[in-house]
Amino acid sequence: MSVLVVGSVAFDSIETPFGRAERVIGGSATYFSVAASFFTDVQLVGVIGDDFTEEHLDVFRGRPIDLAGLERVPGGKTFHWSGAYGFDLNVAETRATHLNVFADFEPRLPETFRQPDVLFLANIDPELQLGVLRQVRRPRLVALDTMNYWIASRKSDLERTIREVDLILINEAEVRQLTGDANLIRGARRIIALGPRTVVIKRGEYGVLMVTGELIFAVPAYPLEEVFDPTGAGDTFAGGFLGYLASVPDHGHPHMRRAIILGSVLASYDVEAFSLERLLQIDRSDIDRRYREFRELTEFGDLEPGAG
Ligand code: AMP
Repeated sequence: MSVLVVGSVAFDSIETPFGRAERVIGGSATYFSVAASFFTDVQLVGVIGDDFTEEHLDVFRGRPIDLAGLERVPGGKTFHWSGAYGFDLNVAETRATHLNVFADFEPRLPETFRQPDVLFLANIDPELQLGVLRQVRRPRLVALDTMNYWIASRKSDLERTIREVDLILINEAEVRQLTGDANLIRGARRIIALGPRTVVIKRGEYGVLMVTGELIFAVPAYPLEEVFDPTGAGDTFAGGFLGYLASVPDHGHPHMRRAIILGSVLASYDVEAFSLERLLQIDRSDIDRRYREFRELTEFGDLEPGAG
């Protein structure tokens, strides 16, 4: 069982109301891989420069993460994202995006990476996403993430890629931007009409909404008193969600629901500290504990006959 991710490996500079971090490790593929590695083998496809040292690569070590698809460009600099959040931590403001080695990135998959069970096309150019999909034998599940930038600048390329995937992870503002519909359920149905069977809508502190042809499933975010830095929450969610799905034999509704909870649990750890600090400290028992707490959070039982 394995999951393949293509996405960014980055340095992030972040400002939140609670502090600042300069050039800390980030990137969609980084967060995704660490989260997914709690459940399954991960194959990472991405690019770094010389400045991403062996020491930085320690985040991946001791975990089942295969870096054979992580290309290093000699003399190049690693992708660098700068962002800030106000008190509304659901809204990230991009201050600068230095693509560096990411600008000429053309993912080429090693031979050993061409038969993943699950494929995650993290937020990159939709044409590159399609190029990766063309290099693998059809996986059991293909999922895609995207962002407002691609919806605004490359909508038709993005829609072409969306037609070929099984599942899309997208935040609520992006559903509205992509579909022109203010209502999330109707927006999700419009995306389903394009091709994907499942739409997973990320709503920050309000949780996640999953919509398929037959099912609507909604969970709140884990109720933390202190959210420190939301960077990477979406990709960490995707890692827990798809890592679990790669590890189970079928993708029926019971496993899909559990996957949503596990994604939410992993994301709740990510947001407690900058970068991957907190994610690197936890183990399976921490995940299982919050999973049980989620059950209590959302359990309310049946009404007694005649009650009320
Ligand atoms: P999120 O899960 O949406 O918070 O993703 C945050 C991560 O996405 C950060 O660690 C950034 O390095 C990375 N990122 C931000 N902008 C881009 C972009 N345009 N392309 C690829 N990765 C990005």
